[in-house]
Amino acid sequence: MQKVVILGGSFGGLTAAFELKRLLGKEAEVIVVSDDDRFVFLPSLPWLIMGHRRPDDITLKVSEILKPKGIDFIHEAAKQVDPDASKVFTATKEIPYNYLIISTGPHLSFDEIPGLGPDKGYTDCTFTLDHAVKTNLSWKKILEEPGPIILGSAQGVSCFGPSYELAFEMDTELRRMKMRHKVPIFYLTSEPYVGHFGIGGLGNSKRFVKDEFAKRDIKYLANQAIEEVVPSELRLKDGTKLPFKLAMIAPPFKGVPAVAPLGNPRGFIPVDKNYRHTKYKNIFTIGVAMAIAPPEPTPVPTGVPKTGYMTITMAKTAAATITAEIRNEPLPSAEELSVVCLMDMGDTAAFMKAYPVLPPRQEAMIKGGIHYKWLKMAFERYFLWKMRNGLTNLP
Ligand SMILES: Cc1cc2nc3c(=O)[nH]c(=O)nc-3n(C[C@H](O)[C@H](O)[C@H](O)COP(=O)(O)OP(=O)(O)OC[C@H]3O[C@@H](n4cnc5c(N)ncnc54)[C@H](O)[C@@H]3O)c2cc1C
Repeated sequence: MQKVVILGGSFGGLTAAFELKRLLGKEAEVIVVSDDDRFVFLPSLPWLIMGHRRPDDITLKVSEILKPKGIDFIHEAAKQVDPDASKVFTATKEIPYNYLIISTGPHLSFDEIPGLGPDKGYTDCTFTLDHAVKTNLSWKKILEEPGPIILGSAQGVSCFGPSYELAFEMDTELRRMKMRHKVPIFYLTSEPYVGHFGIGGLGNSKRFVKDEFAKRDIKYLANQAIEEVVPSELRLKDGTKLPFKLAMIAPPFKGVPAVAPLGNPRGFIPVDKNYRHTKYKNIFTIGVAMAIAPPEPTPVPTGVPKTGYMTITMAKTAAATITAEIRNEPLPSAEELSVVCLMDMGDTAAFMKAYPVLPPRQEAMIKGGIHYKWLKMAFERYFLWKMRNGLTNLP
């Protein structure tokens, strides 16, 4: 029996595991290895920060959803991969594999900027459940003692959406509470212009975001790199100093240390169109862990986001490719990646679509409307239900 080991128990890892088991049944042993036994619906973390969700509302227990499908779970961090010996090492185990799928997401590299981050620095973060819970406390404090907020992304980030969402959500909430005049909101980003999103913009996204920021009196600075953060002050490389009471800054992304040696200098792993490693033919990498070249060099380094929708497409392609190879069947042709995203904006939301992800494109648009907010709320429930039941074959 073939043994497929999957690193990571989130969007990519779980989708790949369910798909492989569905396609191969008893023909393969499927094992998920993850340092976290929770699946967190990350797109809802901004709502958790705003107090609209509790951790239990958006979390599933990985071991409980894998077991009924006959998928094994090892709740440990991978420490190292030996691609020549086809083995993964954890602190206590040596796990051989016929195929390996890596979906370990980003390493949040706070250490690259002095004073950045909630653990050793002075800024908050949205990107993990634990960080978001802490940011929710900082938000509650702002409501008690109002002061300036900075939201945005440092150099080397490749996920911009959540910072935009929080800027719009905080604006809406502060207005609802008749406090907006006491809390200046500033959006700071490494993107060359607002609405770039790491993908060279889409449709009229630059104008769309600028208009929204103007309407809501959100000041912004784009094309910026952060030098350091000190208590209550963010210092940019060009000498600008920005005071804050709450700063929620996305940190630079890198590949996680256990798999980074398989990747480029920032630890993102190069793959072919079926997400197979360009050198090691039995290793596949999907989601945030894989490398995509940016659409154009940006003056301040930024990365291309690998959204949930993209990650799931990658997981399905990798699973179908491994299945075909095990069965000696023709390999599936890979679906071209596209962006389909709903951005919450507090009192409304925006729908974004781009095909393909990077320009030039066949199709690109961004559109606002309250019905997109309802759709985003419904999607959260649907996605969690789908994952809880291992029904990743559904759209
Ligand atoms: C706040 C936020 C909001 C977002 N909003 C949207 C949205 O609205 N729409 C959208 O499409 N996308 C959104 N995204 C992006 C989406 O969440 C990602 O595309 C998706 O999570 C990527 O999945 P992944 O499996 O590659 O990595 P991740 O989800 O980051 O998961 C990585 C997994 O690997 C595990 N892991 C890490 N290191 C190890 C190790 N050494 N050994 C074993 N396991 C390890 C982790 O515990 C985790 O289970 C958002 C992301 C964030 C953070």
